[in-house]
Amino acid sequence: MHETKRGLVLREVAYREADMMLTVLTESGGKVSAAARGVRRKNSKLSAAVQSLAFSEFSFYENGGRVTVNEAEPIELFFELRSDLVKFALASYFAELLEVTADAEVENPELIRLGLNSFYALAKLQKDPRIIKAAFEMRIARYAGYAPVLDLCPVCGNTARHPVFSLETGTLYCATCPKVGKTIPVDEGVIAALRHILYGDLKKLFSFRMEESGIQTLATLTEGYLLEHFERSFKTLSFYHGLV
Ligand SMILES: [Zn+2]
Repeated sequence: MHETKRGLVLREVAYREADMMLTVLTESGGKVSAAARGVRRKNSKLSAAVQSLAFSEFSFYENGGRVTVNEAEPIELFFELRSDLVKFALASYFAELLEVTADAEVENPELIRLGLNSFYALAKLQKDPRIIKAAFEMRIARYAGYAPVLDLCPVCGNTARHPVFSLETGTLYCATCPKVGKTIPVDEGVIAALRHILYGDLKKLFSFRMEESGIQTLATLTEGYLLEHFERSFKTLSFYHGLV
């Protein structure tokens, strides 16, 4: 069966002499593993469209559960991400998170929009990459089912006084109330940024500004929260930290 789908290449793994196995996040939100034959040979027409981080239109052929790429046309290759090592490292980290979060069976079209918007922001907008990273981490934590609840302090039931954010429970506590897990003090600016990231329109995900100290707190918080809830490490994140 032939099917045409647009999708983002999250990963490419070389196999056999000249082939690649791709992991593609499609527009419907499903994840597809597909073999691209002969793409490592010189003059392969497919090689640009099937590389990691490319957004392309694929013609897939499925036979007995195996999917092959018949044709592929690049739509956006994000060249800027390939010429800047820090941006490349971050985009690769986003791709790894998308791969872990996406499900082959479950469709979640917001995932590819998050991926494409984030790649676009990294590649084309003059935005602090730490803000793009923080927004991506918190938004994908939400899609993975780990949305924090930025509500009243769960201990005393009031708006948290001198609030601290628990990486374990994803809630705001008063500095003086008993807390669960490691906590990070947050000010109004950080709380407003978190609300914007979690509940705002995906199109405006990166449209906020912060002071330097706020960016640092937000960055520590979102990465700590993500690692706490995904319960694993990411090679691409270690690579990024080796650079910055
Ligand atoms: Zn309290």
